[in-house]
Amino acid sequence: MSRFLSIKYADLEPYVPGEQPQDQPYIKLNTNENAFPPHPSLSDAVAAEAGKLQLYSDPESRALRQTLADYHQVSPEELIMSNGSDEVLNFAFMAFCDAHTPAVFPDVTYGFYPVFARINQVPFRELPLREDWAVEPRDYFHAAGTIFLANPNAPTGIALTRAQVEEILQMNPYNVVVVDEAYVNFGAKSCVPLIREYDNLLVTRTFSKYASLAGGRLGYGAACPELIADLNAMRNSINPYNVNRMTAAAGISCLKDDAYYQRNCRQIQNIRSWTAGALKELGFTLTDSLGNFLFVRHPRIGGEELYVELKKRGILIRHFRQERIQDYNRISIGTRAQMEKLVNTLKKLLEERA
Ligand SMILES: *Cc1c(COP(=O)(O)O)cnc(C)c1O
Repeated sequence: MSRFLSIKYADLEPYVPGEQPQDQPYIKLNTNENAFPPHPSLSDAVAAEAGKLQLYSDPESRALRQTLADYHQVSPEELIMSNGSDEVLNFAFMAFCDAHTPAVFPDVTYGFYPVFARINQVPFRELPLREDWAVEPRDYFHAAGTIFLANPNAPTGIALTRAQVEEILQMNPYNVVVVDEAYVNFGAKSCVPLIREYDNLLVTRTFSKYASLAGGRLGYGAACPELIADLNAMRNSINPYNVNRMTAAAGISCLKDDAYYQRNCRQIQNIRSWTAGALKELGFTLTDSLGNFLFVRHPRIGGEELYVELKKRGILIRHFRQERIQDYNRISIGTRAQMEKLVNTLKKLLEERA
């Protein structure tokens, strides 16, 4: 920290992304990236835009928003595009939280929520997940704040049903409820169809996980036009060109080749159930994850130790320091071959320690 940093940021604790060490090739199962590359046609779509980079991108992402509106059967006024869904989440903290309207979210959830609250200098309340790691909907009734729920939740992978989300929406008519659907394409039910019924619902989504576009940075929000207008006020006060030309073209390409990406998502779900079965046989306990990751612990090896031992053997998984989940690790679903390597490595590791 320099001596010039504003004191308002003195105790900022920035988000720590999953590590990307370069010392040796790793099997990367630590950042929930998609196991498969984008469809081959995406490169041409992106290359065509590269030749036009002297021109600003469309600040309203009209072509992309229209394609996405058709995809979700909503109107373009109900959508805002963003630089990854992290950006639209930040806009929501800016627009819908303040000193009297805290952010409210689970104690174990996406690590960026408390960071967004702090950088925007808004208070937040963390509500403990149940013992079984599920969100208890009743805890969010009359929340007196803006609710942020990742659904499925991360890193637990557990999802609320649409009926449970509706209960929370109905019991919070004066609060915005943000449903973060980063992982919804791996088996949970989307709440996008509810945006016409609930003017307090904002659904955020990303192309990062389901459409193999983490490096392209494309996300969006879906909500009633009034909420979208508020978010656009934030966006147009920070960076109206937040989605660059190449990424906008990539997004349209993903929607065009949707069948390919949906097939990959189903494939990942199959690999997830195979991996879950194999890990259970090795004595792991795991939650019923509907994400492209598993949340696991083993009775004979601590969370941090497992992470360290796998890293030594060329496999990266995600360990969290947070006390309540110290014994756990989050393992992204890779290709079948990568997961077989993981399972075999774990088998050996556990045998060595027996
Ligand atoms: C990955 C993730 C996001 C955002 O990812 P972007 O790459 O910024 O779109 C948002 N919420 C959760 C829970 C995530 O895991």
